[in-house]
Amino acid sequence: MPKIVLHNSPNDPCWCGSGDKYKDCHLDRHKQAPLRPFVFDDKLRKQFKSEYCLHPSANPSVCKGGIVKAHTIQRMGGLSRIAENGHVMGFAFKPSLQELITNGGSFEAKRAGVKDASTFTGFCYHHDSRTFEPIEQHAYESNKKEHNLLLAYRAICREIFTKAAALESIRFQRNMDKGQDLTSQIFLQQYLNVRKDGLEVGMKMLKKEKIKYDDCLNSGDYSKIHYYVMELDRCPDIMCSFGCNPEYDFSGRFLQNLVALGMSGSEADLITCSSIATDKGGAVVFAWLNEPNNVGRRLVRSMEEFEDNRLVQATVKFLFEFGENVFFSPLWWRGLDRGQQDAIKAMCMSDYPKPPTALLPGTQQFVTWKITSRVTNIEV
Ligand SMILES: [Zn+2]
Ligand SMILES: [Zn+2]
Repeated sequence: MPKIVLHNSPNDPCWCGSGDKYKDCHLDRHKQAPLRPFVFDDKLRKQFKSEYCLHPSANPSVCKGGIVKAHTIQRMGGLSRIAENGHVMGFAFKPSLQELITNGGSFEAKRAGVKDASTFTGFCYHHDSRTFEPIEQHAYESNKKEHNLLLAYRAICREIFTKAAALESIRFQRNMDKGQDLTSQIFLQQYLNVRKDGLEVGMKMLKKEKIKYDDCLNSGDYSKIHYYVMELDRCPDIMCSFGCNPEYDFSGRFLQNLVALGMSGSEADLITCSSIATDKGGAVVFAWLNEPNNVGRRLVRSMEEFEDNRLVQATVKFLFEFGENVFFSPLWWRGLDRGQQDAIKAMCMSDYPKPPTALLPGTQQFVTWKITSRVTNIEV
């Protein structure tokens, strides 16, 4: 992150890093009228409504049917099964300046309509329906590579879409310090610069990863996907679809160091995780393509050391520690005691780097899912 140097000349680039001239940006910022919260929320929402098609052959002459609200979690089979009156719950990030200063922002569990939850406008109708037809129109088969690859691909596309929107929104978030003193201004702008750097690194990595998935889809060769599937006796109360870079396994053993890999320009292993409803109940699917650091394999090894219930509780931690695109049943959430709800909220708020013990299951029993089988193409 560049060191902040405060400039006084109105025509200099502003010290905050926005790229605007000082006179158009932070000059007299402390005298400006603070943003009203609803204006802020509204602007932020709009950033996530960009529309484009992420398919590798996206092109005005090929894309058809307009951009759709693509569901990262199966609509009929997944979210609707855990919904209550058409609503599920998820965590929404509330970035008010005061909260950022005191505790780095906060997350609140909020209700979301099934139609809006987990959708993103990152595919046209033609490419969305064609690409994901095997997992949307057919029963999921845990040992079918194509199915697991598509789940992983959808998670990655959604990560790219969300990161692009988050990067866009940083520009607007720079206005949150209007009317605040210089110390608060510097705090916010530094926070946003760190966040921007992190998002840019993540985006670069995701785009590289997506190209590898695109190649598999284009050639119809799904053989390179690795997977570890926990089949469950019921539809999971928590639905998700995301990609992440775990640094420690479920027992706290070291897997990869993101900062060191980033500095040396080396690749980090990206693991996707999707929880889905199936004909037999449900499943949590871990899938990844490449493993330059052997992260997936070692993660699987640590999962195999756990008996079923321990693994299920640890998986819940994994979902909330790493996933942003996570939705859950209102009934399940209400059934948790205050300590469990607080523990889950803390998982959502924790940032990188995670402590080695982040995934270690404690004594809390978050869910009552039973594993019916573990299916993998990894030799542990
Ligand atoms: Zn500025
Ligand atoms: Zn398209």
